[in-house]
Amino acid sequence: MYPNILRHPGPTPIPKKVELAMTQDMISHRTVEFVNLYQEVTQNVKAFFGTKQDILLLPSGGTAALEAAVVNTVSPGEEVVVISVGAFGDYFISICERYGLHVHKLAKNWGEACTKEDLIEFLKPLSNIKAVFATYNETSTGILNPIEQLAEVVRNHSDAIFIVDGVSGIGGVPAEMDQWGIDILVTGSQKAMMLPPGLALLAVSERAWKVIEANHSTAYYLNLLSYREWAAKGMTPNTPAISLIKGLSAVCDLVEEEGGISKTVERHEVMKNMVREAMRALSIELLTSDKYASPTVTAIRTPEGLDLTAFLGHLKKKYHLDFAGGLGHLQGEIFRFGHMGYCFPSDILQSVSLMEAGLQDLSYQFEPGAGVKAAQDVFLSSLRK
Ligand code: PLP
Repeated sequence: MYPNILRHPGPTPIPKKVELAMTQDMISHRTVEFVNLYQEVTQNVKAFFGTKQDILLLPSGGTAALEAAVVNTVSPGEEVVVISVGAFGDYFISICERYGLHVHKLAKNWGEACTKEDLIEFLKPLSNIKAVFATYNETSTGILNPIEQLAEVVRNHSDAIFIVDGVSGIGGVPAEMDQWGIDILVTGSQKAMMLPPGLALLAVSERAWKVIEANHSTAYYLNLLSYREWAAKGMTPNTPAISLIKGLSAVCDLVEEEGGISKTVERHEVMKNMVREAMRALSIELLTSDKYASPTVTAIRTPEGLDLTAFLGHLKKKYHLDFAGGLGHLQGEIFRFGHMGYCFPSDILQSVSLMEAGLQDLSYQFEPGAGVKAAQDVFLSSLRK
């Protein structure tokens, strides 16, 4: 009976208008009706990426789009740099290794960002790098890498293309792909895009298209050249995720209703600050510094004296509040508070309030109401701006 309060960093809650859009009658993807839908949606979603390039829609999870970015641009034996600041950076390493690339790993401690100085230093001895891969928003740690600065370093210190995993960011974080010089930017539907899983979105710069054309990839289903060829006709090479594309159209409308993507991004910034100030008021440690804190997910250390599994289980069972645990070696040490997509300051107030109730049940010592008040102060001051 009670709704699950899904505060995960993906999948995330779906707006009613999006659900309704997805339940419309099915259409064929080889019709004028579909072409109109495709052209409208791919035009409207460009603002989420900050690009004038075509947005390609893959009927897949984010991983397939990351794999497409790898397999279309580089060939076995070629040298690449992968920046990893957490579990999803490691993911990129695994994909590249699986394809037989010579991977130079720029790994940071989980909870830290990769700075432009780190990357300049790392690139110094390397002269033959074909592509640099980075995660914009590291979902496992709540780090937002300084991607604009990293893009600048890649441009100025190498001839490589810059490929970015924006899966848990796009829709909730600033993105100016063209202006910053990102060559491939990828996202997935189930995070800040307010959709169910199953649709990946990908944009490619002119520079990266030249690399892709010269690469002669053997990829078939993930062949980006065929996606480009069909996109020119307002279609996809194979059957697309039609319902999700209808949902995406509604997502674009909702964002427009909010005042455009910059307003949506501002809301995420407010929610980030609400969560961070609430945790501080409860004397609960955050994994990351404010400087590189993600606007879409916050990694929070286990409240002192509590067993994390018991705490999260209690919140879920008694209050239907569903936080995500840690990944990899951070399992048991942190939990993740997702605040992306169809999530609002009122949801943060609700979640912090329920979290406080759970903390009281488990005899954690704090001043009741302190977290809610801190979050509310951030929210109210954002309204006065
Ligand atoms: N990259 C990041 C940053 C993610 O957060 C995820 C999923 O959580 C992925 C890639 C993989 O996406 P998918 O699970 O849709 O394949």
